[in-house]
Amino acid sequence: MQTFHELEQTQSVISTILQNSLRNDRINHAYIFTGDYEPLLLEAAHLFAKSLFCEAPVDVEPCGVCRSCRRMESGNLVDYYEIEPDGATIKKEQIQQLMHDLSLRGLEGDRQIYVITQSHKMTPQAANSLLKFFEEPGEGKVALLLTNQPQLLLPTIRSRGQLLSFRPADRQMIGEVLSEKTGRDHELTQLAARVYPKVEDAEEALLEDWFVNARASVLQLMEELANRPADLPLFVQEKWMGQFKNRQDVRIGLELVTCFFEDVLRLKLNPAWEGMTYTNSKPQLEQMGSKSQTTITRWLQAVLAAVRRVEANVNPQLTVERLMFDLQKG
Ligand SMILES: [Zn+2]
Repeated sequence: MQTFHELEQTQSVISTILQNSLRNDRINHAYIFTGDYEPLLLEAAHLFAKSLFCEAPVDVEPCGVCRSCRRMESGNLVDYYEIEPDGATIKKEQIQQLMHDLSLRGLEGDRQIYVITQSHKMTPQAANSLLKFFEEPGEGKVALLLTNQPQLLLPTIRSRGQLLSFRPADRQMIGEVLSEKTGRDHELTQLAARVYPKVEDAEEALLEDWFVNARASVLQLMEELANRPADLPLFVQEKWMGQFKNRQDVRIGLELVTCFFEDVLRLKLNPAWEGMTYTNSKPQLEQMGSKSQTTITRWLQAVLAAVRRVEANVNPQLTVERLMFDLQKG
């Protein structure tokens, strides 16, 4: 997410509030961004900071080309600070160091912005140091406190900042953030966001070639199923088993297949639908959609049953073999 216009698509209230404060040049000295998905909060914080530093904003959007925008993008803007937990907590020393740095610098202009991620992890001592600073923040300093657990912040901290509650992030939005973070294509990041319950795991998977190959194997499996169902057992022996070896891998593989069948079914029910996870594979989805609705539904049920079996510790290889048998039956 690079612009307020993009932020507006999913977080219209937050986007409007931030834009208004920029337009009217009424910037608080502390904001608390809360929401269930911190990378999104951090992106919004970056955007807000970038706009505040930008030398030639277009209305309120950062221009993206001035020196400040470029420094923000490369992480080299000296008046922008970001701190995160050191281990399990954010320690008093970290806050004191930050306050010390803030008191020294102010090199580039009249504004300094500091972001505290997972701010609920501040120790009480750290939070108290921050509070002291809040009492006399000085000109031009803006705190952005991010947290997915605002109830754990000290009430005195909470009451000093403007609280902005982000709407829960949906998987699609998570996919978009992951796409920006990892540079992987839209389809792959949407898939990772769907099949990995934990966002950190999705991000890790996207950095590995294994996941790219996993998608290729699933698409190939679907190709075999559509065109050469009799060859499925051979394909599974020669290719699939080599890609999906342990239980966790098999589960991911099956979840990817589930996503495919879901796309096929929804596209069949509504040919104008555009929300598919396999965005690059529409021709294949449509080809599979030429099967009857009953067949597609049965396939979907078979793969969902296989996921349950793998989760219930049934031998993953046997589960996959049985699934191929069920799919072949059509
Ligand atoms: Zn700029």
